[in-house]
Amino acid sequence: RETEEKYVFETEVSKIMKIIINSLYKNRDIFLRELISNASDALDKIRFMSLTDSASMSTNSNLNISITADPVARTLTITDSGVGMTRQQLKDNLGTIAKSGTSEFLSKMEESKKDDVSLIGQFGVGFYSVFLVADRVTVASKSNDDPAQHVWVSDAVNDFTIAEDPRGNTLGRGSQITLHLKEDAVEFLEPSNVESLISKYSEFINFPIFLWKGHNETIISEKSETLESNDDVEEEEIDSEKTEPEELTEEVWEWSQINTQKPIWTRSPKDITEEEYVEFYKTFTKSNDGDPIAWSHFKGEGDVDFRSIMYIPPRPDANFYQSLASATNNVKLFIKRVFITDDVAGDFFPRWLSFLKAIVDAEDLPLNVSRETLQQHKTLKMISKRLVKKALDMFAQLAKNDEKKYSEFISHYGVALKYGAIESQSHRKKVASLLRFRSSQNAQDAVVGLDHYIERMKPDQKHIFYASGMTIEEIEQSPFLERLVADGYEVLYFVDPIDEMLMQNMPGYDGKSFSNIAKGDIKIGDDSDEAKAEHKELEETFKPLQNWLKSTLSEYIDKVTISKRLATSPMAIVTPEFGLTGHMEKLLAAQGM
Ligand code: ADP
Ligand code: MG
Repeated sequence: RETEEKYVFETEVSKIMKIIINSLYKNRDIFLRELISNASDALDKIRFMSLTDSASMSTNSNLNISITADPVARTLTITDSGVGMTRQQLKDNLGTIAKSGTSEFLSKMEESKKDDVSLIGQFGVGFYSVFLVADRVTVASKSNDDPAQHVWVSDAVNDFTIAEDPRGNTLGRGSQITLHLKEDAVEFLEPSNVESLISKYSEFINFPIFLWKGHNETIISEKSETLESNDDVEEEEIDSEKTEPEELTEEVWEWSQINTQKPIWTRSPKDITEEEYVEFYKTFTKSNDGDPIAWSHFKGEGDVDFRSIMYIPPRPDANFYQSLASATNNVKLFIKRVFITDDVAGDFFPRWLSFLKAIVDAEDLPLNVSRETLQQHKTLKMISKRLVKKALDMFAQLAKNDEKKYSEFISHYGVALKYGAIESQSHRKKVASLLRFRSSQNAQDAVVGLDHYIERMKPDQKHIFYASGMTIEEIEQSPFLERLVADGYEVLYFVDPIDEMLMQNMPGYDGKSFSNIAKGDIKIGDDSDEAKAEHKELEETFKPLQNWLKSTLSEYIDKVTISKRLATSPMAIVTPEFGLTGHMEKLLAAQGM
């Protein structure tokens, strides 16, 4: 029998432990996520091994995780039937840090001084987080590669010991982590607390998680049961004369599986009902503000392996249009069914799409990848590209299949799409096709898409006409509109402040350029020779008036021309083609520019 040996923690481990204990006490319940995640990894490993070596499973064939608390000993124990650790592995894995990005993380933490919970939370603190809640931890572990079961023990002060387990091989295979809880961490002895943590962090773990817990059961005393089950009439009469059957409640303790549902995104979309999608939306967003407008459930395959469900929420978050930063908590990232973080929205969606809520479950990312390396991970970039494309597909589908829902979508997110058309070079055409505007044909609702508009263009029409204003009324009173509308041309109504910006960034669509009817001399189409001659005549006739106006108003105007665009108004003041429109001037003035 080998003797117990004492080892000193690697300096980096000691540093990490100090940081964890000092800065994460408010989020200390993450220890359970870390332990379950490690157990799940260990189970993944043995399951993988058994693919090529079926005998490896025989040492313990039930793949699961079980959790139990002992209030008398004040311990919480997490047991898994995973791959386990040899003596050497216990020493290496739980005494050193092999994790990439650790030193980077350490120097950042030392710099920041503050309790930078977000930093450490993203980093994935791993096993050492047990010392948030425990002052003494024992890890018993049995690997197929070691004839003996060993126990690792530490009280987080500089060193740990490893010895052969005096109880012998109790595990068959796997690991058992026992936390001797700190006095102020006794809440984790309460099964209902542990259960809600499991639900929070690990509902979607691939292996069953069992919790030892009690529940009240109503027991009807044996006597009355016999009487009730007896058909004999006489006996029943006797029964009715007796007192009521005795009801007792008894606390029954048993293993109960906490994570019962297979993660919804791993299931086939055709087996999932609308209600299930809606319920899942509400659960994972913890929201109660109605049903999502639409969703898309898909699988990325080939160069990047992941699954995702993304939702269009019933309405944008209150500060979506105010804040310039990408929304947070909108995307939940899982790696191989293990919840990693929900602070990655900006990594997956450009700002203008960050109103979407999504879960992403990636196969090709390492668990506990640090925040810094996560952002640089090329897998993440590839996933992001797919998500954006899928989001645009989802919008296009909705536009095609459900007019009512699409107009609801546009009413909430139309402005976000316009931002998209401005910001995204690569998706501008697609995003532009999704935009909807009011127009001289439907001033009430934003339903006119650029494709519809172009389909309806008159044969001689070269440009997409638009008019800007603060309100529909203002636009409709504009003298510039009359002639075009009278001649049967459609004019888009731009009433969103962002529309002018959109025009500056989107010179055309599908080969047609936009033409602001309030600017310069708009060209409707090619003039016939006859029209040209007529115009020439008019110019001759009004030359004297033109000259008089020009000299009288020289302080205020650039030039006076004979216009083709007015129908009933005698005269209009316009801005030059390359100048600011009146509307834009108002906008800039409002912003103090
Ligand atoms: P990470 O999980 O990122 O590797 P941890 O600090 O959580 O970092 O765990 C360190 C290592 O300890 C793991 O990589 C694994 O090799 C080992 N380990 C931890 N828990 C278990 C377990 N339950 N079964 C087997 N090995 C484990
Ligand atoms: Mg881990």
